[in-house]
Amino acid sequence: MPRPIEALIHASALAHNLARARQAAPDARVWAVVKANAYGHGIERAFDGLRGADGFALLDLAEAERVRALGWRGPILLLEGCFEPRDLELCSRLGLWHAVHCTEQIDWLAAHKTQQPHRVFLKLNSGMNRLGFKPAAFRSAWTRLNALPQVDEITLMTHFSDADGERGIAHQVAVFRAATQDLPGERSLANSAATLRHAGVLSDWVRAGILSYGSAPDHPHHDVVHWGLRPAMSLRARVLAVQQLEAGDTVGYGSSFTAEQPMRIGVVACGYADGYPRLCPTGTPVLVDGVPTRTVGRVSMDMLTVDLTAMPAAGPGSEVTLWGQASNGAMLPIDAVAMAAGTIAYELMCALAPRVPVRAVD
Ligand SMILES: *Cc1c(COP(=O)(O)O)cnc(C)c1O
Repeated sequence: MPRPIEALIHASALAHNLARARQAAPDARVWAVVKANAYGHGIERAFDGLRGADGFALLDLAEAERVRALGWRGPILLLEGCFEPRDLELCSRLGLWHAVHCTEQIDWLAAHKTQQPHRVFLKLNSGMNRLGFKPAAFRSAWTRLNALPQVDEITLMTHFSDADGERGIAHQVAVFRAATQDLPGERSLANSAATLRHAGVLSDWVRAGILSYGSAPDHPHHDVVHWGLRPAMSLRARVLAVQQLEAGDTVGYGSSFTAEQPMRIGVVACGYADGYPRLCPTGTPVLVDGVPTRTVGRVSMDMLTVDLTAMPAAGPGSEVTLWGQASNGAMLPIDAVAMAAGTIAYELMCALAPRVPVRAVD
């Protein structure tokens, strides 16, 4: 028997979440952002649930090839554009749309031989200071691109640093409006947080990443229930063994947990080598047979321990849901586990370890 742990990818949840993005931005087209192997879900496994999107956005050229290999003939966008001149050949061959964020990328296009002009997303650095042309350089970049026979339509794009937080997007929207005034073309501004929280933001193309996978982009300000999102990934394992503790007994490495009274502890076949964060402290929420309880003691490489004191019926073989959906339909948002570990759901999804078998369901 294989070790009792697996991750499930729920196609119906992906489709449901994508529909939420459409509902929030009814006039926009929706990119399903599938970079980082669909945020750890697996591009091939997530494809069924996300095929209702208007296009797929990613940044690895090999991932673009995988989406084409699935038979997708619609738009694919390279969010960081090309990394070297010969990447343009693949763009021509596969009909990829690509971001243009620096002058080198324009130089490469100008030297590129192609029959088929490329659709490009010209990126403005409106304050994030990662990729994109500064406002003062934006118009001349547009003019230069627009004059190239290698270029078809130009979409104007920027990315928000604080769509999920206090500062919001107004300051960047103002910079974007000023820099793009009078320039023709479609606009693409909103990520998940902006799509849900700032629905009015001008965007012909929204870029739905994390919301598609069932995490609240502005957690803990709002949760998935508030946004009507469903977990697309469930990490489930089973109880391997049970230990009866007396008051004063400790659990696990470092003896970081001491029982104050008699307790029943379940040992679960999941550890940090499966992608469960070692930083999750005692008290991190977990479901056993779909019933909420907590972890106790340190997470080790292959095992972690949970409190079964209040669940006498639970024992070896009981289902443990580390995040996502339990078999009985109970839900543990991945955001709650990420918060306990001091991180965000994006990181947990992307860190699901290769040794965990993954199964597409629904
Ligand atoms: C990853 C990414 C997104 C998606 O962000 P989410 O917060 O996951 O919605 C959108 N735009 C760009 C440029 C990205 O790199």
